[in-house]
Amino acid sequence: MAATGPCKCLIGGQWAEAQTDRFGEVWNPSTGEVIARTPLCAEEDVHRAVQAAQKAFPAWWDTPASDRARVMFRFHDLLERNGDEIARLISREHGKTFAESQASVQRGVEMIEFACGLPSLLMGETIENIAPEVDSETIRHPLGVVAGITPSNFPAMVPLWMYPIAITCGNCFILKPSPRVPLSAVRVGELLLEAGLPQGVFSIVHGDKTCVDALLSHPDVKAISFVGSTPVARYIHQTGTANGKRVQAAGGAKNHMIVMPDAEMEPTIRAMLHSAFGCAGERCMAGSLAVPVGDVADELVERFCQEAGKIRVGRTDLPDAPVDMGPLITRPHLDRVRGYIDTAEREGAQIVLDGRKVNVADSPEGFFVGPTVIDRVQPEMTVARKEIFGPVLPFVRVKTLDEAIALGECCQYANGAVIFTNSGPAARRFKRDFNAGMIGVNVGVPAPMAWFPFTGWKGSFFGDLHIQAKEGMTFYTQQRMIMTRWFEPAQLDKHDPVWRPGKS
Ligand code: NAD
Repeated sequence: MAATGPCKCLIGGQWAEAQTDRFGEVWNPSTGEVIARTPLCAEEDVHRAVQAAQKAFPAWWDTPASDRARVMFRFHDLLERNGDEIARLISREHGKTFAESQASVQRGVEMIEFACGLPSLLMGETIENIAPEVDSETIRHPLGVVAGITPSNFPAMVPLWMYPIAITCGNCFILKPSPRVPLSAVRVGELLLEAGLPQGVFSIVHGDKTCVDALLSHPDVKAISFVGSTPVARYIHQTGTANGKRVQAAGGAKNHMIVMPDAEMEPTIRAMLHSAFGCAGERCMAGSLAVPVGDVADELVERFCQEAGKIRVGRTDLPDAPVDMGPLITRPHLDRVRGYIDTAEREGAQIVLDGRKVNVADSPEGFFVGPTVIDRVQPEMTVARKEIFGPVLPFVRVKTLDEAIALGECCQYANGAVIFTNSGPAARRFKRDFNAGMIGVNVGVPAPMAWFPFTGWKGSFFGDLHIQAKEGMTFYTQQRMIMTRWFEPAQLDKHDPVWRPGKS
């Protein structure tokens, strides 16, 4: 398909071209073709978006919380009705299979469901007679203009972790999606406007570091939510907080999957396959390091490879494609993932299933790598330590659970980790002692549902309040404490029942 024009920004409720002559390319990773261009906004575009949001804020804050939530109810219906169209866009610009794209839209729908119930969470607390005739209460205010900067791997879902909550709390939100996958974020934005959101409450600017830096330094942007790789998350947190903003910044991951000798082999392998190779491994909660404990390793590696070899790799941009796994997001990323496999080989690990040899006959220019299994990996090797972000599963064999837990301690990330076992005590020890913020027991991908926060630790998260759920609401609001005393009129007749009913 021929390249289409630049996608639009949303500023002050209007879809408009950015004032820039710099553009990024959007690929169909299944074919390697360019399908759109992303404008890389200049500082001036960001300023216009912030100005429009700032103008919209007082009226939106004044809008009753129940009316704000009603917009989300309508948005929810629109997203459900148009879910398959959005899923097709995601498959085309990102490369997920249609089923994976549908599932990611469904996760987004659940985020909106959570936001629909926010008015009850926004309630403050009250205590009367904190001192004689003095009452005290807390109320929650929105922050004002807030921004979200999102990654390429979940183009619709990750933005939906942020703006339904931020907007229902009464804030105005500016989204800066990944320039590699702007199309589905824009389409979901259209649905939000259709739901009846006033102009300026939600905006979209596109771009790279220039655009991000303009948001990070703008005095009227009060808070930044970020999801992406760890080096950028660290930079966003440092720069945003130095500029006086609230920041929550989720980063990369290396999620260990510990397999105990007593694990149920068949469901364990099924869960590990889904965890390591779902979405071609481009998930921050992907199982990205297998750690078999004791004598389970030989059988596990052999049976895992047998099943992984059956995964069908192919184009995801065609309707009803009989495909289990799609391409990676870009050619440079494909080269990086292949490079990690080369490095493992050079460092002495065994490539027991080699995805570099994958052949997708109907699309030789697509960004494909097949499922890859690397055995006999040592903890100090590159593939044991780095986030590969592709369908590559290294196995580090250990002798004991203690050794597996110690391996987690050395990891710079601490997003998720899972254990497969039939032993309650082993699972309990793991839940308590393993170095990760999200834990699964016999569950391959313990990514939290909308009602729970996304609790990464260490190099996987920078900030205090996590994204999603009640913590998300706390992040997007500030509390005010009010103490009230009413003086009784001096000439008050204490016996007048109008003033002291029932006390005369
Ligand atoms: P990325 O860090 O390259 O980009 C994320 C966002 O930051 C994009 O909007 C991008 O335009 C912007 N950006 C990139 N470089 C920048 C710079 N130098 N200065 C300012 N802004 C910059 O990440 P990605 O490749 O799009 O996404 C994959 C990464 O995201 C992986 O590391 C993955 O683990 C992580 N991720 C984490 C979570 C989580 O919840 N922890 C969820 C999804 C993805």
